[in-house]
Amino acid sequence: MNSAEDIWQSVLSLLKESLTPVAISTWFDECRVVDINESSMVLMVPSDFKRKIIESRFKDAVQKALNEIFSGEFDVILVGEADASTYEAPVNKPSDLGGSDYYTFENFIVGPSNSFAHAAAKAVAEEQTKAYNPLFIYGESGLGKTHLLYAIRHEIQRKHPDYNIVFVRGNDFMNELITAIQMGRNIDFREKYRSADLFLMDDIQIIAGKNSTQEEFFHTFNTLYEAQKQIVFTSDRPPSEMYTLADRLRTRFESGLLADIQPPDYETRTAIIKTKSLQLGLILSDSVIDYIAENMTSNVRQLEGAIKKIRAHRDLDNMKDSDITVTIVSKIIKDMFKEKTAYIPTPDDIIEETAKYYSLTSADLKGQSRTRNTTLARQIAMYQIRRLTNLSLQDIGAMFEGRDHSTVLTSIKKIENNMTEELSQTIKDITANINARG
Ligand code: ADP
Ligand code: MG
Repeated sequence: MNSAEDIWQSVLSLLKESLTPVAISTWFDECRVVDINESSMVLMVPSDFKRKIIESRFKDAVQKALNEIFSGEFDVILVGEADASTYEAPVNKPSDLGGSDYYTFENFIVGPSNSFAHAAAKAVAEEQTKAYNPLFIYGESGLGKTHLLYAIRHEIQRKHPDYNIVFVRGNDFMNELITAIQMGRNIDFREKYRSADLFLMDDIQIIAGKNSTQEEFFHTFNTLYEAQKQIVFTSDRPPSEMYTLADRLRTRFESGLLADIQPPDYETRTAIIKTKSLQLGLILSDSVIDYIAENMTSNVRQLEGAIKKIRAHRDLDNMKDSDITVTIVSKIIKDMFKEKTAYIPTPDDIIEETAKYYSLTSADLKGQSRTRNTTLARQIAMYQIRRLTNLSLQDIGAMFEGRDHSTVLTSIKKIENNMTEELSQTIKDITANINARG
């Protein structure tokens, strides 16, 4: 049986045939399947606004995709976050880790690598001080930033059910802003964010360099900050490495508390593996735990992935926990590393990330518009595709509505010949965004 997540991914790839990547990420990024059975799928969409749009514009398409996957009639039921729990499986069923209910302080394992960020998050959640404002948590991918952000939300929500808590990913903030501008609904957008009692933004690095987003964001930030509302950000880099961040934003970010998370040390990794495997209903021997802790050192998400894989092997091969040996585990982990190194961005990924950076769409970049921004973004995209993939100039031209190779070459040369400090940092930021997809 496919997991709900697999099914949802298949639905999304079918939707890709008729919708642009931007439309898909705008409307469906926050959706989560909370239940699926023979005849219906329950989809949780946190934002009321998006739920309405999906209901009126995309529900049929989702239904059709499901019918294509299962060749049967499916009902699609859209619910908000509050109603989702009625459908959701009990949290402590040993099936899955993750989901916002799981991301609590109780489920966060503390070690020297994350104790500072953990303590800061806890202090904010317990409202001990107003001094940590904004709290800026940064560190590499998979080290628990989003987990801490949800934990803060969880805690404050419990204490202040009446609070308007805004939890938004940098990417969604940006996409929503673009849509709001297109639909002339800037005021609603502002109202929504500036009325927050607690403002949590995940992966804020994405707004670096996006001027119109930064501008709007700056005003939101100031409004909240002046009203002494708590603000928490996460980012994969510290403000000092967000190269194209407006200086005034950098200064604001650095005026609060910066807390970094480092990869876990050996003891913490061991504790994480033990706890997570038990939560997943798996009892591993000490030598297996030791082996994993020695060999997977950089990322907690990866540790979880390994444990889930081990459990899947156990179930598929009908093994007992005691049959899981270091030899079996070492093979599973080797396979994971092989998969990991395989990420090479596709030209479409590159075009999409470059477009997003300039608040444009992939279609804008591929199309004929010659505004200054679009032209520059298009040239950068061509330059990046040339640099990051092995596509020929002719192939690149074909991606852009059949432009010829000499046009592509001219564009690439323009970028190379005008490589100012600013442009080079822009390209660094875009590259980091592209790699973050891998
Ligand atoms: P990030 O946002 O930093 O990329 P996440 O918060 O999404 O990382 O964490 C990735 C996964 O690892 C999540 O499932 C999270 O629960 C888990 N995780 C990370 N750090 C810890 C920790 N210290 N204790 C327990 N789980 C953790
Ligand atoms: Mg995260």
